[in-house]
Amino acid sequence: MPHTPDRRGIVLILSSPSGAGKTTLTRMLLQSRELDLTLSISVTTRARRSSEVDGIHYSFISQKRFEAMRESGELLEWAEVHGNFYGTPRAPVEEILNEGRDALFDIDYQGTQQVREKMGADTVTVFILPPSMKELRARLERRAEDSRETIERRLDNARNEIQRWKAYDYVLVNDDLQRTFDDLIAILRSERQRRPRRMKGIEAFVERLLNE
Ligand code: 5GP
Repeated sequence: MPHTPDRRGIVLILSSPSGAGKTTLTRMLLQSRELDLTLSISVTTRARRSSEVDGIHYSFISQKRFEAMRESGELLEWAEVHGNFYGTPRAPVEEILNEGRDALFDIDYQGTQQVREKMGADTVTVFILPPSMKELRARLERRAEDSRETIERRLDNARNEIQRWKAYDYVLVNDDLQRTFDDLIAILRSERQRRPRRMKGIEAFVERLLNE
């Protein structure tokens, strides 16, 4: 149902090397009705994993279609990650934010930079670190959805990605899933209360208050 927003929507970006627990945390965040977050569904040229559903986890598209979207400006940001292309369609994000709702992005550091440049103060960025490289490898192996070669490539990339942590507003070490989730909720709750985001709603409230 459309409603009049009393604050600006937040673009909450989660980044991490694959295997740090970001996908699970994203799912937990989306399942919380109270948080009422809407996932920005990326397009990708990567092959679908057996656990993934087209249109829910990603929209799986051809390289040709990706290039067409990129050329026509349909993508808010895009990046090449692990040899595949990923991008965020612009229109759904604008719709979410215009309704005063918050959008959750699961994108890498390259995309984060582009979104921050375009959306400025609306972005809140969180980087999730694994507790150790050993644990990161174990998680990638447990997932058992990628080939050995892919796992090795992802571990190599993880080392590069981890070095990007300084570009983020918040950095969480995911050594305890529930605690990391609680920290994410605390971040979101605080960010929602920031005055610049709530100017319109508070101005109207204060006017009423002073007229009592
Ligand atoms: P995976 O293939 O494991 O689903 O994702 C690989 C990496 O691509 C993850 O770090 C994920 O955050 C990133 N990614 C997914 N979608 C997008 C997107 O739309 N844009 C960018 N820049 N990165 C993305």
